[in-house]
Amino acid sequence: MPVQIHPAVDSGLAPGNSKFAGGTLTCRCTTQPVKVAIRSAIAHNHACGCTKCWKPAGAAFSIVAVVPSDKVEVVANGNKLAVVDPSALIQRYACTACGAHMYGPVEKTHAFKGLSFIHPELFAEPGAPPPEFAAFVSSVIEAGVDPADMSAIRARLREVGLEPYDCLNPPLMDALATFAAKQKGVRA
Ligand SMILES: [Zn+2]
Ligand SMILES: [Zn+2]
Repeated sequence: MPVQIHPAVDSGLAPGNSKFAGGTLTCRCTTQPVKVAIRSAIAHNHACGCTKCWKPAGAAFSIVAVVPSDKVEVVANGNKLAVVDPSALIQRYACTACGAHMYGPVEKTHAFKGLSFIHPELFAEPGAPPPEFAAFVSSVIEAGVDPADMSAIRARLREVGLEPYDCLNPPLMDALATFAAKQKGVRA
């Protein structure tokens, strides 16, 4: 059986619309779905192997991107939302009925403060740009993937154009390190 990365990846990445400027994230409930308006393009879209991101059943990776938190607004059925883990850096607001994670703001002092993590597959509108890389790839082992499958997973990710990283990609790692350098006073 081929490695299941994510439904949006397994059949090859669909090209996005370069003019995509947001839309409405809609949870998987068939009645009274939670709707979250995103009034921004998405950035840093990637496949994530961590154990905390929401992913469809059977997928080893989530697809997750960021938007400015001030461009996020719950517009329907927000009473169904609850934070999955209040102690986590990312405050993931999930639908308590279907489990979909709708948005996850970073509110603590952090390089990613002011950004919200979202799952583009929940957009009601087509055209969101595809993921650009794969992060936290080794972490899929923590979710139960056989370590012996890792070379095939990394090969498959490269085959579809998602360079695999075991943490984040260099631009985001540099952003984290730059923030840490400023916190320490090494950089102004
Ligand atoms: Zn739901
Ligand atoms: Zn993740």
